Amino acid sequence: MGFDVDRFLETINEGLLCCICRDVLEDPVQAPCEHAYCRACIEGWLVHETICPEDRKPLSSLSLRPLFRYMRNDLNRLQIRCEFYRSGCDYISDLEFIHGHQQECHFKQVECTNVKCSTLVLRKDLQDHLKTCQFHAMECPSGCGYLMVTPEDTTHNCITELKTAMDVLRSEISCKYEEQKREMELRLNMQRSHMVQKEATMQSQIDDMKSEISKLSQKLKLMMDLEIQRRQDVEKLELEKKELMEVLRDTNKRENEPSSSASCNASVSHCKRCSPLHGKVTTI
Ligand SMILES: [Zn+2]
Ligand SMILES: [Zn+2]
Ligand SMILES: [Zn+2]
Ligand SMILES: [Zn+2]
Ligand SMILES: [Zn+2]
Repeated sequence: MGFDVDRFLETINEGLLCCICRDVLEDPVQAPCEHAYCRACIEGWLVHETICPEDRKPLSSLSLRPLFRYMRNDLNRLQIRCEFYRSGCDYISDLEFIHGHQQECHFKQVECTNVKCSTLVLRKDLQDHLKTCQFHAMECPSGCGYLMVTPEDTTHNCITELKTAMDVLRSEISCKYEEQKREMELRLNMQRSHMVQKEATMQSQIDDMKSEISKLSQKLKLMMDLEIQRRQDVEKLELEKKELMEVLRDTNKRENEPSSSASCNASVSHCKRCSPLHGKVTTI
């Protein structure tokens, strides 16, 4: 599957020939034993074999490597004729560029572009062939748009043609409609389920918040009760304080009053201590 030796202008070094096809190496690889082959040749060989075809040393496709760089350079610089030289192409180039030319070579055989014609012609002759090709498509002279393959196409009927075209169009439209409907339904269902999920999440959030609020309001009530209790206590204390202050004021007042009885004078120390009972003592 290499390049035919006849296509080269010079004599080819033995080392650049494939060990299998004996042509010039194409897409070359080499084995660890340094024998070189076209990739396609050796891969085909290794389907059934496990040895090098040249020296019978063990070989697998995993051990294949690219060819030495200097050999690749030698290969690439070889002057080669176009693949279609027998058809008249006289193009010659470096081996590495020949593939690009061959893709567009005017001497390459191509098939006629008319659907029902399978004639092979050289690319350069295609235009001439199309002018005379009996399968040349032409539009229906009545203007229905039908492409007649041969002028002798007598089976054509404009009305039947248009009817068929309409049927095709109708079925295409209904297909598209069904497809769009399914797609819309699918999208709607997805959105609906998404909404349901969202609603459930929100509901659970609301429930959480409600229970939080009820806990907080219980706490608040407790705190308010405590506050009322505290205020009552404060009021009570204020009242007691007031009473005590009054008692204290009374006491101070009585202490500061000048004494009038002699018996009191005799026992001043006792009198000072029991001054609140002073009145009672004097009456006794
Ligand atoms: Zn080969
Ligand atoms: Zn070998
Ligand atoms: Zn060519
Ligand atoms: Zn043709
Ligand atoms: Zn027609």
